Amino acid sequence: MKQEIRRAEKLNTLGELAASIAHEVRNPLTVVKGFLQLMHREDKGKNYQYIGLILSELARAESIINDYLNFAKPEFKKIEKVDLGELLSDVKMLLNPLAVKEGIHLESYLEKNVVMETDKNQFKQALVNILKNAIEATPQDGRVYIKLFSNTSGIQILIKDTGKGMTKEQVSRIGTLFYTTKDKGTGLGTTVSMRIIDTMNGKVVYSSELGKGTEVKISFPPVRQEEQVREESIVG
Ligand code: ADP
Ligand code: MG
Repeated sequence: MKQEIRRAEKLNTLGELAASIAHEVRNPLTVVKGFLQLMHREDKGKNYQYIGLILSELARAESIINDYLNFAKPEFKKIEKVDLGELLSDVKMLLNPLAVKEGIHLESYLEKNVVMETDKNQFKQALVNILKNAIEATPQDGRVYIKLFSNTSGIQILIKDTGKGMTKEQVSRIGTLFYTTKDKGTGLGTTVSMRIIDTMNGKVVYSSELGKGTEVKISFPPVRQEEQVREESIVG
């Protein structure tokens, strides 16, 4: 594809400020949610429907706040061996209902036994955000393709769509906090994904052509021999 741009870290001070505000706001929100849930359970009267609506909007606010927090400081809490084929297959299943609803073919080729040590939930979040964008950009009867493979130069994941694509300018703005072209978009998804993949020592490269589609290439360096040796000697 024509327009390519390499993604390095796009750290944004404004984003970190936003994240610290988000952190402060989360606690009172949790209290409000608790009381509302109580009311929802006990009051089946005329406000029942309103409370349900308030709760679902609160859930939306919560998920946005979590994205902000994740952006400033992705927490890699539980590092474990993750089978990437299984993880991608989970992500695909998770987003399949959306693809079906939009009439999009979600296809994949996932190599077996590609394993990485990382925080599974963090990486899952990063992949969901990228795949969701691909589905959202693709018209009915379009195709979104996921590929996983590894070789001597490392691990690669491709997420390719036959969607509306982007101009050179749009590609250059990807990953910038708050950049969105959608009515109900937040402009957080790709920023969070890139931050997570960056923390994992990975690279994200977007290639896109307007009207044709977009390809997202996520790559990780191979696990170094010496690291494996060191791990073994720690175990031994
Ligand atoms: P949001 O999805 O809330 O708009 P994102 O950070 O996830 O925020 O994406 C930012 C913008 O990047 C999108 O609004 C869209 O314009 C563009 N974008 C991301 N992925 C794709 C894609 N696969 N095809 C076309 N445009 C994309
Ligand atoms: Mg998005």
